[in-house]
Amino acid sequence: MINFQNFSFGAKRVLIRVDYNVPLDDQLHVSDDTRIRATLGTLNHILHQGGSVVLMSHLGRPKGGPEDKYSLRHILPALRTIMGGEQEIQFADDCISEKAFAQSAALKPGQVLLLENLRFYPQEEKGDEAFAKKLAGHGDVYINDAFGTAHRAHASTAIIARFFADDAKGFGLVMGSEIANADRVLEHTERPFVAILGGAKVSGKIMIIERLLDKADIILIGGGMSYTFAKAAGGSVGNSMVEEDRLDTARKMVELAKAKGVELLLPIDSVIADRFANDAARKVASNDAIPDGWMGLDIGEKTIAQFRDAILRSRTILWNGPMGVFEMPNFQQGTMAIAQAIADATAQGAFSLVGGGDSVAAVNQFGFADQVSYVSTGGGAMLEYFEGKELPGIAAIAPL
Ligand code: AMP
Repeated sequence: MINFQNFSFGAKRVLIRVDYNVPLDDQLHVSDDTRIRATLGTLNHILHQGGSVVLMSHLGRPKGGPEDKYSLRHILPALRTIMGGEQEIQFADDCISEKAFAQSAALKPGQVLLLENLRFYPQEEKGDEAFAKKLAGHGDVYINDAFGTAHRAHASTAIIARFFADDAKGFGLVMGSEIANADRVLEHTERPFVAILGGAKVSGKIMIIERLLDKADIILIGGGMSYTFAKAAGGSVGNSMVEEDRLDTARKMVELAKAKGVELLLPIDSVIADRFANDAARKVASNDAIPDGWMGLDIGEKTIAQFRDAILRSRTILWNGPMGVFEMPNFQQGTMAIAQAIADATAQGAFSLVGGGDSVAAVNQFGFADQVSYVSTGGGAMLEYFEGKELPGIAAIAPL
């Protein structure tokens, strides 16, 4: 595996798997360019050395063939702006056509070519070897900088690595910093370490809770998943979101936390609503006594105070998942207060990592992105990394 910082990219054609799977608005303009911006360091490093760059990515979920709304052509204006406007960026309207190969073969030092959406070919997600081999023809060197898809064994993220020698493949700067920051939380942990978990479902977070029980000193659980815990403890939760088939799991987690000496804090109170709507009637209830016909949609003031205190006591903070239905303004106070507490702890010297789609959306929406130590660009990939799973995109280049 090559070391990105020390490798000499001059005169090399560098094929980079990026994660430009960014949201587009109704006009097909990029509405959040975080993932594109994140790759700028990698691109400039190579281009300044006189390398040329072939960029490949997926966008959205096309159904196995070309669809205009998923064309990577739509991200060209954003990419051009981010690269400073001067940089010429060519586009290949099919990632493996003869024309595309002619374009990549003709690249001169300092030039950039973006390939059309890889997922216009179903072979990409199938991890098809022949397709991967073809794609490999676009570069002398392969760099994987797509942390957001590192948990997928797709043609461009994993299989393709077989077609490059050990000294012609490696990770880019995004991948490097994602892994370094995750490892700072998991392996080089300054204590106390608090993990804050929220979001809709216990089922999606069991593995991460289990792993964190071995790593964290404090675990805070909020959001929809907390009502499964409240019910498991014998409380009444009204119409709140509950996974009946996970009640035992919730009980087991609480017992495990006790046995391992982990402080597991569940919400004391909730902002409850009589319907799942922003303009629903609202009041505050104790988490174990939510009346029938009402549902918890956010954590309450007492919980906020307790969680804030735990966050401010900590030196390492991991946050995944909102504390309530933060998409609705009337139920976003809890999520916002937790973001504020994390920002305050960070200002006092704690290291904070926010990972996972919805909590990242929340810190961006509330304007806290610059006040936490690191915002991960990978949702599912970050979760799987924290669960301790081997990510195919990483293993393909750096087998354990
Ligand atoms: P996840 O993808 O599991 O992280 O869940 C994120 C989603 O959980 C967001 O869309 C939130 O609106 C939703 N959510 C958070 N708290 C609640 C709640 N108390 N009831 C219903 N949905 C919730």
